Amino acid sequence: KTTKKTMEFQAETKQLLDIVTNSLYTDKEVFLRELISNASDACEKLRHLQNAGGADIENSDRDLEIKITLDEVESTITIEDTGIGMTEEELVSNLGTIARSGSKNFMTELEQAGSSDGLEIAKGIIGKFGVGFYSVFMVAHKVEVTTQPARGGPATVWTSDGTGTYEISELDEEIRQDRGTSIKIFLDSNYWSLLQESKITEVLNKYSNFVQFPIFINGNRVNSVQAVWGLDPREVEYDTYVEFYKYIAQAIDDPLDILHFRAEAPLDVKALLFIPSFHSEKYGMERMQPGVSLYSRKVLIESKSTDILPDWMRFVKGVVDSEDLPLAISREKPQDSALILKLRKVLTRKFLSQLEKMAKKEPEKYLDEFYREYAFFLKEGVCQDFEFQSTLAKLLRFETNKNTTKELISMDQYISNVRPEQNDIYYLCAPTREAAALSPYLEAFEKANLEVIFIYTAIDDFVMANLEKYEGRKLVSVENGDIDLSQFQSDDEKKDKKDDDGDESSDEGGSDEKLSATEAMDLCLWLKNSLGDSKVGSCRPSSRLVSSPAIVTD
Ligand code: ADP
Ligand code: MG
Repeated sequence: KTTKKTMEFQAETKQLLDIVTNSLYTDKEVFLRELISNASDACEKLRHLQNAGGADIENSDRDLEIKITLDEVESTITIEDTGIGMTEEELVSNLGTIARSGSKNFMTELEQAGSSDGLEIAKGIIGKFGVGFYSVFMVAHKVEVTTQPARGGPATVWTSDGTGTYEISELDEEIRQDRGTSIKIFLDSNYWSLLQESKITEVLNKYSNFVQFPIFINGNRVNSVQAVWGLDPREVEYDTYVEFYKYIAQAIDDPLDILHFRAEAPLDVKALLFIPSFHSEKYGMERMQPGVSLYSRKVLIESKSTDILPDWMRFVKGVVDSEDLPLAISREKPQDSALILKLRKVLTRKFLSQLEKMAKKEPEKYLDEFYREYAFFLKEGVCQDFEFQSTLAKLLRFETNKNTTKELISMDQYISNVRPEQNDIYYLCAPTREAAALSPYLEAFEKANLEVIFIYTAIDDFVMANLEKYEGRKLVSVENGDIDLSQFQSDDEKKDKKDDDGDESSDEGGSDEKLSATEAMDLCLWLKNSLGDSKVGSCRPSSRLVSSPAIVTD
């Protein structure tokens, strides 16, 4: 025998339900994500309760699991969990009022949109927010929630058609069900396609693949992939990582590197990132899409998010999970996007410091495996990601005139080699190493025993121009006409000076036939006149050259 009570929804809830049921939501299957995440939360809560000991728990040896049953005859979907359940009071306050932050946000947003014609706006907003439990009324004309609280007490049934009222009744002792909650969804005829097992499986694979409690559809287990990112990094085997990587990145290679970390303060984040052994943005192939998905407590929020990492990190694959994120995240909401931005900062910093570590501890791996494959992305980062520009610059490697072995050095190494009087960092852009070595611009620098970085591509040139400075030192192209190298006399020259002190006509570079000052002026005038003002800005004698007769500078 049961006692039935009819109760009214809180006014705001009524309004919300009205909007939800009347809006033609494009991605209507998200109700499943919401209900599964509630079921998973309920199991999680029960596990906490068990771990805390103390309280008597109904059927305490019952496994924590989620069961979905499709009934084509009744046209119902039932979602059962063996979680914490709800008491009657909890039912009333959880499902009868808007307590939940997501639903509240939704209402505020709608109010702020300030239109009486709420429907169009609502569709857009639901897409962004989701509305938790109530989203079930997008597909159902009736919902029946039966729940048995884990701490004991009577089981309760809650029924509603999602309009003004709901009914609550206590279940008889004899028909008291299993611990936890069972939600029976009576589908609208428009959504009967959801009664196909394959359809539901597809939706679950998309959103709920990593839910940590087993999910069964009509008795078959669907979610079999472990959410490796949630495990303690010290306890994960390398092969487990590789298998997970291959699964999420649909990859066939082994990853080049793995970054797995967890933090709780100031922000909850669990991240598992992979650098694939190669990237596909070569040989004119198209630009890669980002490869990192965003989860909140193992439920998918956004697949391949474009915001969670900077664009230059698009070669990275993996998963980021933060409990601080709402299931339906909105980029228009300042606190959501601020949170994403914070996460992005933490992740980028971690990733860069992992690369620095690799460069230091495994320089060969860094150069031969990582840098040769991904240098381009770091350079792109230098040009785009100003916040991390100097950290990225630290990771760049270059050839110079001094390391003829083509061994690459960092800017820090360059700085550790500079001459004491040298403030700037010099570089030379040429098509090839051979061309760079033969460049007339290089002569004076070699004579002054200065190291010059060689760069060979437009992006490198762009990087130098964007950086401007490194560790307070200007990056200067050797083609720059204003460079004064007179302070860097070569050691030979200094000796020469001492030997024949006061000899005004000391020869530059050992040539026997030096032009006199008037001859040089005449030559300059002739050059200017023959080439014309439009081609020649100025022409003057230089002491920079050693064996080349002349150079052009800008
Ligand atoms: P949220 O999950 O964000 O709190 P929902 O609208 O999804 O919002 O759910 C509202 C509340 O109803 C939950 O916080 C929870 O207390 C309760 N609830 C919903 N589903 C279950 C369930 N399967 N088992 C126990 N409690 C539930
Ligand atoms: Mg929920």
